[in-house]
Amino acid sequence: MTSLTANNITVTIDGKTIVKDVSLNVSTGEWLCIVGPNGAGKSTLLRALAGLAEPSGTLEIDEHDVRTFSVRDRACWIAYVAQDPVAPSGMSVFEYVLLGRTAHLSLLANETQLDHDMANFVLAELDLTQFATRSVNTLSGGERQRVAIARALVQASPIILLDEPTSALDIGYSQEVLDLLDKLRREQKIAVISTMHDLTIAGQYPDRILMLANGSTVIHGTAHEVLTEEHISKTYGAAVRVINDEHGPIVVPRRHP
Ligand code: ADP
Ligand code: MG
Repeated sequence: MTSLTANNITVTIDGKTIVKDVSLNVSTGEWLCIVGPNGAGKSTLLRALAGLAEPSGTLEIDEHDVRTFSVRDRACWIAYVAQDPVAPSGMSVFEYVLLGRTAHLSLLANETQLDHDMANFVLAELDLTQFATRSVNTLSGGERQRVAIARALVQASPIILLDEPTSALDIGYSQEVLDLLDKLRREQKIAVISTMHDLTIAGQYPDRILMLANGSTVIHGTAHEVLTEEHISKTYGAAVRVINDEHGPIVVPRRHP
């Protein structure tokens, strides 16, 4: 089992504290979701966990300080998918997804048949085989988002960080991606940390939720503990109804009374 533990993560940019004293822990088999209003600091926190910001606090994988890892080592442990992934132009979808294997190759080595098989397998799982030879810059936003997730899965890192992974996807593809992540984490292959805009999805898939506001943790707990009408109204200024469903709370907006 692999665990990522972050303690008192604080990110300050240009003298402004964007993330303040956030602590969390996630192990393979678990899915933690970060929610919060626009500008709460979700993406900045995720980038800090991915080693892409310079936070204060501690960040460890199985008690090893992540900041001492080389970029390559870090990629073997953590895969990160930005909300709006930028793909290098002129590259085919297959080549782009295969880049996920880079961290596993020894210097100057070529990809093996296994690397190719993994790329093909993940492309098939995400219903992307038909795009394999297409140039990445001809993809729609939703296709590009799924291809970026495929690339992260091909990386086969035990920890995967996804910034609003379904923001460009329709309801069917959202469920396909979420079901695949859920299956992989249930098989104990990965630990997932995702930010999520949609509170119902946050309530249905992940097993814990951390709600952020102004960079600080409002509450961290199960979906039923976090997604209450009171927390949502206080943190988002939104009027909602929370309906309990067998897979977790469903959050429905309603007109302010
Ligand atoms: P979220 O993902 O929750 O919407 P972000 O983490 O993107 O929030 O941003 C949190 C706050 O930090 C916002 O007010 C944003 O403008 C600010 N911010 C993020 N990155 C930078 C940066 N590089 N320079 C200055 N401010 C930033
Ligand atoms: Mg964001």
